[in-house]
Amino acid sequence: MTRAVILATLLIAAQVRTADPVRRGLKESDFPRTIKVSDNVYTYEDFHAGDEKFTTTNMFVVTPAGVLVADGQGDVAATKGLVDAIAKVTPNPIKYVVICSDHGDHTGGNAAFPAGVTYIIHPTSKAILDRQAEGRGGRGGPSWRLPAGAQLVSEKNPLTLGGEDIEILFLGRAHTGGDLGVYLPRRKILFMSEIFLNRVFPAMRSAYPSDWLGALTKAERMDVNIYIPGHGFTEIGDVSKEELRAYHKALETVIAEATRLHKAGVPVEDAIKQANWGEYSSWTLAKSQGPIAIRKVYEQIEGTLP
Ligand SMILES: [Zn+2]
Repeated sequence: MTRAVILATLLIAAQVRTADPVRRGLKESDFPRTIKVSDNVYTYEDFHAGDEKFTTTNMFVVTPAGVLVADGQGDVAATKGLVDAIAKVTPNPIKYVVICSDHGDHTGGNAAFPAGVTYIIHPTSKAILDRQAEGRGGRGGPSWRLPAGAQLVSEKNPLTLGGEDIEILFLGRAHTGGDLGVYLPRRKILFMSEIFLNRVFPAMRSAYPSDWLGALTKAERMDVNIYIPGHGFTEIGDVSKEELRAYHKALETVIAEATRLHKAGVPVEDAIKQANWGEYSSWTLAKSQGPIAIRKVYEQIEGTLP
């Protein structure tokens, strides 16, 4: 344990409910940071690329037989930061990396994970990453590709690592279509990756809006004490439950507003201007993600979602 690891108990103090580090009372220099969530479970938060600061949040589980990591960061240097942070907590090697979100901000740094780790991924996300790796071939871009031998999880894959039961779960299509969660039954912790964006406006570029609501309902019905988001801050205990519920309500409200505009016959470009997001207009990324949400819900209603 090092001073870089912040004890979760420190987080029990009342926190401003926001994804914005400044409003939260934090400094840019506080990041990246490692948070101890329970005995052997940690999150790692580093800033997402872009002007609007918010965190991309990963989870790692330390066991005597090695470490399981859920999601990486967006580039090799940032994910190396995660790997180094894990090494400060344990000398045990990383055995598994679960690709819960296939998006670049969670996979773009995967080359920093040690060779020989076993990747776990949903078939939909594997197809997306394989396609991207082929597309990059001729352009001299990043050369990481998902190694052969990745374990595929379509519904549920229980595994045991160093005595810790770990369930890799597909709760339905949500933010990417291949969204996976990582459930720790002993600790009642569920890492939700991009199924749960804590105080970040529902980001729908590749989303399945109605299915996403179903995935959230499933998560809420599970025996969970701590829900961990893929973006936004780590919360513990009841706050994490309240924030998951708040996110669910945000997604419902955004879908309802877009649906209202569609029913009123408002053309998509006008709907983007007219949409009233209420309290969610102050959430992180509302300006950039609001228009995308309108387009996506319109596509769903019109039956043109892929
Ligand atoms: Zn993301």
